[in-house]
Amino acid sequence: MEPLVAAIDQGTSSTRFLVFNAKTAELISHHQVEINQSFPKEGWVEEDPREIMQSVYECMERTCEKLCQLNIDIFSIKALGVTNQRETTLVWDKETGEPLYNAIVWLDLRTQSTVERLINKAPGRNKNHLKHKTGLPISTYFSAVKLRWLLDNVDEVKQAVVSERAMFGTVDSWIIWCLTGGRNGGVHCTDVSNASRTMLFNIHTLDWDPELCRYFDVPMEILPKVRSSSEIYGWMKSGSLAGVPISGCLGDQSAALVGQMCFREGQAKNTYGTGCFLLRNTGTKPVMSEHGLLTTVAYKLGKDESACYALEGSVAIAGAVVRWLKDNMGIVQSSSEIEKLAAAAGTSYGCYFVPAFSGLYAPYWEPSARGIICGLTQFTNRNHLAFAALEAVCFQTREILDAMNQDSGVPLMQLQVDGGMTSNRLLMQLQADILCIPVVRPTMSETSALGAAMAAGAAEGVGVWNLSPNHLPDVTSEKYEPQINSDESEFRFARWKKAVQKAMNWETT
Ligand code: ADP
Repeated sequence: MEPLVAAIDQGTSSTRFLVFNAKTAELISHHQVEINQSFPKEGWVEEDPREIMQSVYECMERTCEKLCQLNIDIFSIKALGVTNQRETTLVWDKETGEPLYNAIVWLDLRTQSTVERLINKAPGRNKNHLKHKTGLPISTYFSAVKLRWLLDNVDEVKQAVVSERAMFGTVDSWIIWCLTGGRNGGVHCTDVSNASRTMLFNIHTLDWDPELCRYFDVPMEILPKVRSSSEIYGWMKSGSLAGVPISGCLGDQSAALVGQMCFREGQAKNTYGTGCFLLRNTGTKPVMSEHGLLTTVAYKLGKDESACYALEGSVAIAGAVVRWLKDNMGIVQSSSEIEKLAAAAGTSYGCYFVPAFSGLYAPYWEPSARGIICGLTQFTNRNHLAFAALEAVCFQTREILDAMNQDSGVPLMQLQVDGGMTSNRLLMQLQADILCIPVVRPTMSETSALGAAMAAGAAEGVGVWNLSPNHLPDVTSEKYEPQINSDESEFRFARWKKAVQKAMNWETT
């Protein structure tokens, strides 16, 4: 039996467990469980850390059962990788093993006033005041301000810090700590890609930065140890996979970059999940953006390997607008239904929908922006609205692609895509039309999980996955060519930008 490698993909909307053949990258079996999100107050977004772990265990055990039904020996699984929603912030008690508050999800806006205060205090009110170290603007998006909120507002967290029982982590740290034994010797670690999204991490020294920790007044003892993205962190403590090494860890967008085999400088991918994230590999040097993009650590595939960096365009709301139409408006019963609805209209009929539910991320970084639907007439119906929601995802991608092209000076000639939304063919065609370049989607779209499995399988001491360029598997893909002329595309994009201006000024005009 050929070696297999597994991956946990803990996303904002769901948890998946997937098993790949380490020689062919073929997906052998998987299981997926949706995750509940709670919105306790306007702008707040939380998830239950216990539910996250239950979903991880359930996905693992169900996948193992499916493998047994296929007569596949689960002992062929040689390693396990973790990929995860980034920035989402947790604090737990290392003695009881219990979380001390819900996970504050990356989209959460409760720290908006803290962010405004920090920006007002910064020299020249510059939101990029910490960018030279972190690659990031001061924003509600990243973990440091969420952790600050927990330290200020949750008594259990305050007490646990005083009695030296508190552990901070992003979702990767929580999962690895639990799987390696939790309060009975669990390993408290993270990888460079996840650490680079906290705003406490220096992307040049590749370590926690004492000055940044002082700036946010975060005690360094509660931080996890930072490791590379591909090395043995520990071993599964219990369950069907007890004894399997956990040897890969990458934030979801980094994992997708690896899974799409974007190892060379200049290669890029765009992932359409809850949000939308375009990353371009910039090689071993961090490049600072002039156009509102982030600089982030893409991966470090081995203790002794160099880190690779990426420029990133982040869009907060992509698939989340479809979930909103389903859960809040009841316009569709399932996310996939939106394609039928939008196709029935074939146009938004002049309606533009800016889903700035969590402010606007790249390239604007405007936390006070709010969602807006404009251009409505008596004629507008739910089909037009569905179309406008899909178009919004495409326009937002166009904005970050334009920024990326301006920063790098070398325009992308086609866009590699992946993520849950890319099963929507209408969306893919719309995207090619709005970008005026081809969009290429791999047939196997679980690229984040594949990337985490690759990192785990390639780790020293595991060595079942060969990452050298002539051993990379062939990937079959579908290509969507632009079908409308660029004048029409430009006209629609110009209208979109007008709508964005209205969303930006919502609270002040
Ligand atoms: P995440 O990794 O952020 O959890 P996924 O990659 O699993 O996200 O994608 C799930 C998101 O994609 C959800 O927000 C869902 O509404 C959206 N989605 C899934 N399928 C479709 C579809 N066929 N058309 C449009 N949106 C979809």
